[in-house]
Amino acid sequence: MTEIAELLAANEHYAASRAHVAGARPSRRLAVLTCMDARIDVFAVLGLQLGEAHVLRNAGGRVTDDVLRSLALSTHALGVDTVVIMQHTKCGLAGITDEDLRRATGADLGFFPIDDHSAALREDVELIATTPFLTPLRMVGGFVYDVESGRLDDVVRWERPVTT
Ligand SMILES: [Zn+2]
Repeated sequence: MTEIAELLAANEHYAASRAHVAGARPSRRLAVLTCMDARIDVFAVLGLQLGEAHVLRNAGGRVTDDVLRSLALSTHALGVDTVVIMQHTKCGLAGITDEDLRRATGADLGFFPIDDHSAALREDVELIATTPFLTPLRMVGGFVYDVESGRLDDVVRWERPVTT
């Protein structure tokens, strides 16, 4: 069986017994941005259930223009007010440069490599916090997930100042 045929066969079983979520609005008003890394089970790591959060994934779990596009909809159209950015240990984007990645892939792209998780998380949290169209956001947190222990390191937190 090919990989794709296997997916379609699995879906037959899933459709017969799936959990149903009524609305599109994440019930915990939460969006989680994390890496595409195959070792991260986002829902299990954070104790989330289907319907509770938006999950955005890309290489590194970095804040790109497309992440900002998604968060614009999450916040304005779907009620999200909290974002968690979850990078992880042993990430393929850590300890490598844009130049290395351009050479390896032949793609002339900005890959958002991670030199230091703490610095990268602070930079990304700051970018979300200062994006003018994301004003509905009240809180942003930055974590590093340890793929060996399964534990989170709580690295950075931002809360929108209360204006009177
Ligand atoms: Zn990664």
